[in-house]
Order: sequence, then structure tokens, then C-alpha cells
Amino acid sequence: MEAKVGKARVLFIRGDITDQETDAIVNAANPSLMGGGGVDGAIHRRGGEAILEECKRIRASKWPNGLPTGEAVITSGGKLKAKHVIHTVGPVFRGGGRGEAGLLARAYANSLKLALENKIKTISFPSISTGAYGYPLEEASKIAIRSVVEFLRQNEGIEEVRFVLFSDRDLRAYEEAAKQVLRLDS
Ligand code: ADP
Repeated sequence: MEAKVGKARVLFIRGDITDQETDAIVNAANPSLMGGGGVDGAIHRRGGEAILEECKRIRASKWPNGLPTGEAVITSGGKLKAKHVIHTVGPVFRGGGRGEAGLLARAYANSLKLALENKIKTISFPSISTGAYGYPLEEASKIAIRSVVEFLRQNEGIEEVRFVLFSDRDLRAYEEAAKQVLRLDS
């Protein structure tokens, strides 16, 4: 499924984010920035050591106590097709009463802000926080799309945003959410 927001295209596809050829892919990292399971593990495995080395330097120079939830940092893409990886930390879902929605929206918005600052025009997102971090898919998908759409309406420069969903169920949830948020009919 594809939608237009301002001058930008927003795409929803099923796939592996490590295969994407967008200028940047976004990693659902944890505060350590030292890799982990899920999409984080897949990105570091395919991107190679260079990404971890850059993450170590970022930790040492800027975030000695770890990257706070909702913030984002950028490294090269190492051996990936994407030139850059933007690492952001989504919230762990603890029932919804601890500011999770705002933090999840910030993870998307700060990733896009960093993309713009680095002249990135095309970017792929995974479904941040809906794996190990336990955010319910129906809510997370709406927050993700709203945050991206709001950013695209307020900022020019990003040409394409891809949501790369790992399962059919995830793709269906995002497409359903997009119809509600964007009032699309196909
Ligand atoms: P979080 O800790 O933010 O919840 P996870 O990596 O556990 O992050 O899960 C986030 C989402 O990423 C899940 O929907 C998971 O299925 C998906 N995912 C895992 N590997 C990949 C991949 N290679 N490409 C795209 N999405 C992936």
C-alpha cells in the first residue's frame, strides 16, 4: 500500500529491513547501542562490525549512560545497502500509563529529524517497540503513522518513508491503521 503526504510517499511493505535500499534504515535499538535481538540483531549481523564500532564511539563521546528512550543517533550502514543506520530507542510497554505513546512518537520524529539533518531522502522504519518491548500492535501502528505524517506535513525534504513489516499480521495492522489515520480507501 502507498499513500502521499505532502510531497512524500509513504509505503507499507512486508519484508526484511536489512534488504532495503533506502538512504537510511532505522534500528529499534536498546539504550546500550551494543546490539541485541530482533531487528537490532539482524542489522548488526548484516551490517558488520563497523556499525558497532561507531555505536561504541557515540556511547563514549555523547551518551555514556546509554541512549535515552525517544532519542536517535546515526551511524554508517557498514555492509548494508543503506548508507546510514539511525538507531532509536522505543519505550518498553508497561500498560500505557507511563508516557509510552509520547515516547514512541518521539522515537519516530527524532529519527526523521536526524534524517533531514543528514540530507537523507528515503528511509525505512521497522515496527518500533512491538516485538520484545511489548507495545500492542494496533496502538503502536497508529502512533507510528501519526507521528510520521505529522512530521512530513511540517517538514520538506524527505521523499519516501517505508514501513517495513516483518509479518503479514504486522503489515495488515499497519495498513488498517493507515486507512484510519489517512482515511484512505485502498
Ligand atoms: P523492540 O525491542 O523495539 O520491540 P524488536 O526487534 O523485538 O524491537 O521488534 C520490533 C519489530 O521488528 C517486530 O515486529 C519484529 O518482528 C520486527 N523485526 C525483526 N527482525 C526484523 C527485520 N529483519 N526486518 C524488519 N523487521 C524485523
